Amino acid sequence: MKVVLENLTKIFPSRTKGGKEVIAVNDFTFEIPDGKLIGLLGPSGCGKSTTLYMICGLQKPSSGKIFFGEDDVTELTPENRGVGLVFQNYALYPHMTVKQNILFPLQNLKGADKMSKDAMLERAYEAAKLVQIDELMDRKPSELSGGQQQRVAIARALVKMPRVLLLDEPLSNLDARLRLQTREEIKRIQQETGITTVFVTHDQEEAMSISDMIVVMKSGVVQQIGKPQDVYDSPLNLFVAKFLGTPPINVFNGKVENEKLLIGGNAVLDVKGVSDQEVFVGIRPEAFIIDKQGPLECKLLNVEVMGRDVSIVSSHEDSVNPIIRSIVDADNLKEVAQESVHFALKPHKVFIFNKDTEERIYVGNEKEKVEADK
Ligand code: ADP
Ligand code: MG
Repeated sequence: MKVVLENLTKIFPSRTKGGKEVIAVNDFTFEIPDGKLIGLLGPSGCGKSTTLYMICGLQKPSSGKIFFGEDDVTELTPENRGVGLVFQNYALYPHMTVKQNILFPLQNLKGADKMSKDAMLERAYEAAKLVQIDELMDRKPSELSGGQQQRVAIARALVKMPRVLLLDEPLSNLDARLRLQTREEIKRIQQETGITTVFVTHDQEEAMSISDMIVVMKSGVVQQIGKPQDVYDSPLNLFVAKFLGTPPINVFNGKVENEKLLIGGNAVLDVKGVSDQEVFVGIRPEAFIIDKQGPLECKLLNVEVMGRDVSIVSSHEDSVNPIIRSIVDADNLKEVAQESVHFALKPHKVFIFNKDTEERIYVGNEKEKVEADK
């Protein structure tokens, strides 16, 4: 089932007299393709949950429309939309067993949707099998780990065979290892069921790893939509560039003069077609190449060898952040001197941004290349 968001906006009135209203979601338009997993990503307060609750029907949009397939569902109640919703804090009924928790949504079906007891049980076991908790059906939630509880919550959301599955930070309460495992599970379940899914998270790595497409939001406004790798490889603005990637992108104050990009007065790259101006330069950690003749000279602070990766921690006067973190090839390490390190840069891992708008400035035919790759 494709889901269409059309100019979706949510304004919360001010809580205090004369205070400012909050535009939680601002003119969000997007067609979520059928059967895909979409990661809705952004910092806390950017409007992710509000968007999800509008899709689900728990919040009414201030303006705009929502379609499931061709059906306009904007005015429908959550029960009539055919959605399954999973929250961060599982929200299971503590006095009920796992089985009763999963059966609950089916027992509440009315009229023509009413099911026989056997049919309900069969469905409940199917859903439980899908999330691999069918052995735990007679336990109470308090007798389960966090990961198991979240599986029960997912089974409960799936049991009504929803048209759309909505997950609001479903992994945030799990410890690191379970989080990793459960996100793989969610991906598998989504692929097996083919249910169009919206997955909300503030964790870029989580969103990148399981989403077919990500939507990056900031202050209620969509910044960029695309396949995770495409957004990483070609961010539209400085915010998106900084939000994606671990270690994060390194940002420098730079200058363009005569189609050369200067950092600290040294020409680090050619930037064909870019007019003279001050810019922000974003350099991905993997962009740095150790090179004695390299034009970017940084003060060496530390070399961290972490298994496969070598990370060089350095600093530079024109770096926006106190430290620069680069991931380099271990083979070149012998060329690192005592106090300073010289780098050459991989051009396709370096982005420049307008100093005022923080929008991307494209170099040469970069923009055409991005369009062609889509
Ligand atoms: P996220 O899920 O990305 O953290 P939310 O969608 O919960 O963000 O919130 C977006 C903005 O809307 C925030 O500024 C938040 O304070 C505000 N907001 C959310 N719900 C309400 C509400 N019921 N009343 C007033 N403001 C709200
Ligand atoms: Mg939220």
